[in-house]
Amino acid sequence: MFFQPRDKSGDNNNAAVDDLQDAGRRSLIRIIFATSGLTLGVFCALQFMADNYVFAGFELLVSALLLWGTWRIVRVHNLLPFIYLYLLPTFSFMLYIIVIPNASKTAFVWVYSIPVISYLLLGSKRGSMLALPFVLAACLLYLYTYPVSLDAKGLIDLGNALLCGVLLIIFVHLYEARRASAHRQLQQMARTDALTGVANRGSFQQSLEQSIREAQRSQAKLVLVILDVDHFKGVNDQYGHDAGDQALRHICNSLNQRLRNTDTLGRLGGEEFGLLLRGTEHGAAEPLVEILREQIASKPLTYDNQQIMLTVTFGMAEWPSDGQTAQQLYHCADQRLYRGKALGRNQMVGRSMPEVQLSEYSAR
Ligand code: GH3
Ligand code: MG
Ligand code: MG
Repeated sequence: MFFQPRDKSGDNNNAAVDDLQDAGRRSLIRIIFATSGLTLGVFCALQFMADNYVFAGFELLVSALLLWGTWRIVRVHNLLPFIYLYLLPTFSFMLYIIVIPNASKTAFVWVYSIPVISYLLLGSKRGSMLALPFVLAACLLYLYTYPVSLDAKGLIDLGNALLCGVLLIIFVHLYEARRASAHRQLQQMARTDALTGVANRGSFQQSLEQSIREAQRSQAKLVLVILDVDHFKGVNDQYGHDAGDQALRHICNSLNQRLRNTDTLGRLGGEEFGLLLRGTEHGAAEPLVEILREQIASKPLTYDNQQIMLTVTFGMAEWPSDGQTAQQLYHCADQRLYRGKALGRNQMVGRSMPEVQLSEYSAR
């Protein structure tokens, strides 16, 4: 019964979803850096041909920096400073080319890329906070440089430019908000057991390891409880698999009613669950678990007009006295659960339980 990871693929689902998002953003930045670097390289050649050597030299430098960044970004830990380091000068340059003497009137079209790039690289909140001031400043600079005539043609020109920009911002905003919400849902699904709605094995394992790290810093104690439904195979055999599924949900609801927000309930597999009681020592946890045990035993599941009696056996271990690591805690709680089964089930075995020889008892 000693705990061994049974489903390694599910252990880091949540981290896997985050990694996916990070990898996606990283490859997007690489594409943007590479295309900007190459575009600037082309403009550098054009400036050179137009005898604008200062501009050509500057563009060559920035182009080289961007191509170096394309290669380097794979190994960077925190992407955010790199993103801002790219976006702020790029957007400022887009404003600048609107106002430079003899600038092309179409230089303004680059401004349309500001919301798209900002939202893609920074998400909707940071993206909108960066894009909106730049777009607004670009509009003012354009109107200042090319005053609009208030006749029909002038107003149509202005309407085209403004409407296209506003629609672009709305579409990008809606798209990014939906993408972010789908990502959150995916994260939630990756953490949750589909049948019972409690934390799944991987997420529970992460919570336990994280709680041990926090407890090490704060010197607080914590308690791990492993619980297993008694004779659950019999429930399936007698009432059917659907009744078994409902029994698992019924037990989780019962447990959740009594737990604090800081406690975590997770499904470790089959009809075995883990309970993580943070900031608690065994003296306080034992009466609570005893209440949980009694509650489950005294409230049978009503299924198809039948009453299905359910009982659960609990094994409890306290950090740090019963184990320093998650693995040691699982081992200790699992041993005690095993002892509870051997002692006749429907009971809790914690530290105050005298050590007994398992050979004195036989599992029913
Ligand atoms: P014990 O008191 O010793 O724990 O006996 P038990 O019958 O509960 O233990 P056993 O390991 O023999 O049987 C567990 C059963 O749980 C077998 C398996 O079919 C059933 N089971 C596991 N996962 C699910 C599930 O998601 N739904 C249903 N309905 N049954 C499940
Ligand atoms: Mg069981
Ligand atoms: Mg079991």
